[in-house]
Amino acid sequence: MNDVASIREGACRCGQLRLKAHGAPLITMACHCEGCRKMTASAFSLSALYPQDAVEVSGLEPVIGGMHSELHHYFCPYCLSWVFTRAEMMGPFVNVRATMLDGADDLAPFIETCVAEKLSWVTTPAVHSFEVFPPMERFPELMAQYATSRQA
Ligand SMILES: [Zn+2]
Ligand SMILES: [Zn+2]
Repeated sequence: MNDVASIREGACRCGQLRLKAHGAPLITMACHCEGCRKMTASAFSLSALYPQDAVEVSGLEPVIGGMHSELHHYFCPYCLSWVFTRAEMMGPFVNVRATMLDGADDLAPFIETCVAEKLSWVTTPAVHSFEVFPPMERFPELMAQYATSRQA
């Protein structure tokens, strides 16, 4: 799975919106913010960030959900699973919901964000915890650390 040439497949709950992610993610994250808790109907969201070119979407055409804001949350139009997010301000990346991908067991969150809003009983194995969402300038360094950790 650490092979950069590897392809990881994924799908929504009903399987009609499919994903193919090429190579390893740039970083994996858990987000504890209230918005993510609402949209996942769970304690936190899990994501795997990929370059936009590395992710192929096929099958049903995803629809925008969530806040319909500058963060574009894409859902399956049939089963309404939250499948991925794109944000113009983050650049040419796609943040795939890690649990949509096959073999998500090795996509444990490397960082966790918005822990100020975290439910008190939740813990994750994240190596770095941030009270809020960290500034974009931190990401190159965090991504480099994540890549190194995957090779270990
Ligand atoms: Zn679906
Ligand atoms: Zn969040």
